[in-house]
Amino acid sequence: MTTTDTHCPYCSLQCGMRLRAPQDGGEAQVLERPDFPVNRGALCGKGRSATAVLRSGARLTAPLVRAERGGELREASWEEALDRVASGLAAAGRRHGRDAVAVFGGGGLTNEKAYLLGKFARVVLRTPNIDYNGRFCMSSAAAAHRIAFGLDRGLPFPMADIATTGCVILVGANPADTMPPALRHFTGLRANGGTLIVVDPRRTRTAEQADLHLQPVPGTDLALALGLLHLAVADRRVDEAFVAERTTGFEAARTAATAHWPERVEALTGVPVHQLRETLRLFADAPTGMVLTARGPEQQSKGTDTVGAWINLCLALGKAGRPGSGYGCLTGQGNGQGGREHGQKADQLPGYRSIEDPAARAHIADVWGVHPDELPGPGRSAYELLDGLGTAGGARALLVMGSNPVVSAPNAAHVTERLRALDLLVVSDLVLSETAQLADVVLPAAQWAEETGTTTNLEGRVILRRAALTPPPGVRTDLHVLRELAARLGVDEGFPERAEDAFEELRRASAGGAADYAGISYPRIRNENGVFWPCPDEEHPGTPRLFLDRFATPDGRARFAPVTHRPAAEEPDREYPLHLTTGRVLSQYQSGAQTRRVPELNRAAPGPFVELHPRLAARLGVAEGDPLRVTSRRGRAVAPARVTAAIRPDTVFMPFHWAGAGRANTLTNPALDPVSGMPEFKVCAVRVERVR
Ligand code: SF4
Repeated sequence: MTTTDTHCPYCSLQCGMRLRAPQDGGEAQVLERPDFPVNRGALCGKGRSATAVLRSGARLTAPLVRAERGGELREASWEEALDRVASGLAAAGRRHGRDAVAVFGGGGLTNEKAYLLGKFARVVLRTPNIDYNGRFCMSSAAAAHRIAFGLDRGLPFPMADIATTGCVILVGANPADTMPPALRHFTGLRANGGTLIVVDPRRTRTAEQADLHLQPVPGTDLALALGLLHLAVADRRVDEAFVAERTTGFEAARTAATAHWPERVEALTGVPVHQLRETLRLFADAPTGMVLTARGPEQQSKGTDTVGAWINLCLALGKAGRPGSGYGCLTGQGNGQGGREHGQKADQLPGYRSIEDPAARAHIADVWGVHPDELPGPGRSAYELLDGLGTAGGARALLVMGSNPVVSAPNAAHVTERLRALDLLVVSDLVLSETAQLADVVLPAAQWAEETGTTTNLEGRVILRRAALTPPPGVRTDLHVLRELAARLGVDEGFPERAEDAFEELRRASAGGAADYAGISYPRIRNENGVFWPCPDEEHPGTPRLFLDRFATPDGRARFAPVTHRPAAEEPDREYPLHLTTGRVLSQYQSGAQTRRVPELNRAAPGPFVELHPRLAARLGVAEGDPLRVTSRRGRAVAPARVTAAIRPDTVFMPFHWAGAGRANTLTNPALDPVSGMPEFKVCAVRVERVR
């Protein structure tokens, strides 16, 4: 047996785990690993069963190629598949221009893959059109972070600090289902005398543990935060000294909040005035406090402003930039943090550099050995990229790595049609995902436990996943694929296949940037159990806590955002009278491509459902388990009813992990946040009927 310390492949906690594997290549066991401080040995069911999909019969073990559109996928050699991809990408560029070739990455890719995928797009394909599914995850929080603090790191403090603070407001987050080992930090908070307030339209398992649960109308979190700021001003709870010394822009934010008096906020949000007052009292009275957001406030067409409003509240009450206080985002995907730092985003270069900054372009061009003028400018954000596929001016050839947009993109039926309209679709994945089923070429990829690479968890802690298992014969790594494709397209250098070599180049590329990895090496990560960025040199200890002395803005002060309430892009009306909100369940992960193929997870969460309140169910004549048709302006989905008083009577909820008739993202609205490009997954208008 061999034993390897590594990390879970799924969510952004990146829980530490130990893999024990027989040397004959048999089934690996997942064991607890108590030395990693984020989870201290605890794992959820997804983590405990994470190796099952690696040996499942659904695993792809040979490339697949489709001779022509509409034909069947058949097995092919790696040579044939790679030749086909390279010639198809080159042909699309020749016929339609470089912008007609696009790349779509994923928040689960390692730092090394994300980095080389961005370099591949810009140096080999010379296209601006690269973006990734993380745009659908926490991009609004990232944008608000940068506006307020000049730097975006999901949590500016370690998870363990949560248990030491006085009060946490958890907005649109349900860690009890999405990252269960994180709950121990919240139970620790309450055990230490702290207070937990949860804001969520559903009474989730997390909300059940809260001291106070606010249950707003979906899409009104911005008004709620403005109402709390209004009360803070009216009740003279503002920390005037902190605001004067450490911030700018308070007057404009205060003025913007003026119109959000408590009764108006109650009318907008449905949250009673007494709960607003209690929330402010608990948060303001606590000596330290945190606001933590997740997808609820972020996945809105006003997500950046919504997160900005919650940051404003922290700043006004002096609960940022101090030990035990601050704003943070509970990032979703496994490498949601690192995935956005190294150049997979349409508007960024490695090290969190703006692609429009001449100094940043010069630095990266130097590392990559090209002239700055050869680097493309910003490309289209994820939904805009997908929406344009196969159209005049849009991409005609697309390489997808580590993503399944047929299930996870908004307005998914439309996105599926756009994918079908491509001249060439290439998908690298471990199973024949719904997106891979549409592909012209499918490349079977090695997975987390079969290859070494780093990820960066939601705390900004860079960690090392170590190869513990031998991949099945016929499977290759994404780094191998990028090297082979680069070579076929005329770039023989600069695409190392060994992850540590790629990381060494990433260190140089990130040096001096906001996300500075220059001082982080594989040996350090191994010896120190992870290193927090920024870490500018090898003597630097890393930075677990940001902003204690100054914020990362030019003047060192945090910036208030003068935001005001606006409605969701689509509000209920006579034709579509209910709100739909979408989300996750305990036993599935993201588009379900992996977890739906794990028998124990599938038994626990076998399919989609529509959650609705008993009063709404009675009005519609619906009983538990009845098939329901949910219709929005974009399409319809069918799934059984789950009747529960845990949801607002004006709202229905669907999880988004499944394809087929119950695909929730058929319904969702692709209205985009103008700053972040985030679609409005969390609220749209629907009609619900019992299927007769
Ligand atoms: Fe994996 Fe997240 Fe579960 Fe931890 S909480 S075991 S990282 S899925």
